[in-house]
Amino acid sequence: MNILVINAGSSSLKYQLYDMTDESVLAKGLVERIGMDSSILTHKPTGKQEVTEVSEILEHTTAIRKVLGVLTNEEHGVIDSVASIDAVGHRVVHGGESFKESALVDSDAKAEIRRLFDLAPLHNPASMMGIKATETNMPDVPQVVVFDTAFHQTMPEKSYLYAIPRVLYSKYKVRRYGAHGTSHAFVSQAAAEFLNRPLDELKIITCHIGNGASLTAVQGGKSVDTSMGMTPLEGLMMGTRSGDLDPAIVPFVMNKEELTVNEVNSMLNKHSGLLAISGISSDMREITEGMQKGDASSTLAFEMYEYRVRKYIGAYAAAMNGVDVIVFTAGVGENSVVLRQRVLEQLTYLGVELDEELNQIRSGEPRRISTSNSKVEVLIIPTNEELVIARDTHRIVQASSR
Ligand code: AMP
Repeated sequence: MNILVINAGSSSLKYQLYDMTDESVLAKGLVERIGMDSSILTHKPTGKQEVTEVSEILEHTTAIRKVLGVLTNEEHGVIDSVASIDAVGHRVVHGGESFKESALVDSDAKAEIRRLFDLAPLHNPASMMGIKATETNMPDVPQVVVFDTAFHQTMPEKSYLYAIPRVLYSKYKVRRYGAHGTSHAFVSQAAAEFLNRPLDELKIITCHIGNGASLTAVQGGKSVDTSMGMTPLEGLMMGTRSGDLDPAIVPFVMNKEELTVNEVNSMLNKHSGLLAISGISSDMREITEGMQKGDASSTLAFEMYEYRVRKYIGAYAAAMNGVDVIVFTAGVGENSVVLRQRVLEQLTYLGVELDEELNQIRSGEPRRISTSNSKVEVLIIPTNEELVIARDTHRIVQASSR
């Protein structure tokens, strides 16, 4: 079975085509600048030359048509015809409380995703454009939706409710939903497999630290708490997002600076985090470079970022009354030797012992970076959200055709 995985943003569309007989990637790519002039399609067929096409792509239906074009192209294609695509899996950011797991796309699912636009106004409409565009181009192909929030639906009320009037929950579903669920699910499962231990006996803290960042407490294979909240703004300090702050700061700053709701939202989501404190960049590589050159603002940005990761690890160890495994994943988690080192060298109270040599190795494979004496296993597990989407799509489509 060949499965096309689609991650649609408002002006971009990422894709990967999987052959599920061996879970190999046949091709992947990205369409950028949809709806702007000179849209760019970058197509990477496995074992063939990468191609880039610049053209005018005004909306997602055309973007998918172009993607299907390159996938079946004589020269840089990887399949003979569109009919070789058996199903399409979509990443959807918000599944609210309705989607506790991935689901087949039907009219009910679409109506529910639309109802959730309110909770993810930037992301869910883009996913819906991807679904509709797929429907237009491939009307008979089954589609599956895989939600970033679904894995966290196991959180107990005490983790997901905010201590505000309950009517806000009953009326508007204001609560913690979390995000990066496919990644936290994938790396926690992969950690148990790597250690050859049953997932349901483990207390794992998964650190998905990339451009967006979240930590999750995974107990017995279930998410019991996560640092992102109703939206992906809460929790850790991120590239451009503030993470946790005193909510009273919002009305205070709005009042003093005469900001609108949109302006304050934009300040907290796009102009805060590493970017705001360093004054240089939202990219951890540049912050680390600045720190190594002795730049005071980059050093402060790094220290604040690291401190918050470490505080959340402590909080989740407390939440689970212990921790067996800490997993690092995503851009910063997988690649930043110095971030991992600074976090882990101050977790000795938990019995963490870092092997500094293992921490230096870059392999792209799951690996252990703690010593054999460490009371907590510390692992790096490269995340693979697309593979989770492909696997879920495969499973659900097979079950529905029985
Ligand atoms: P992601 O969102 O998972 O793709 O992660 C992207 C982020 O990973 C980038 O913004 C970088 O800050 C970070 N990153 C990638 N490589 C490195 C590296 N070698 N050292 C530190 N940070 C890195």
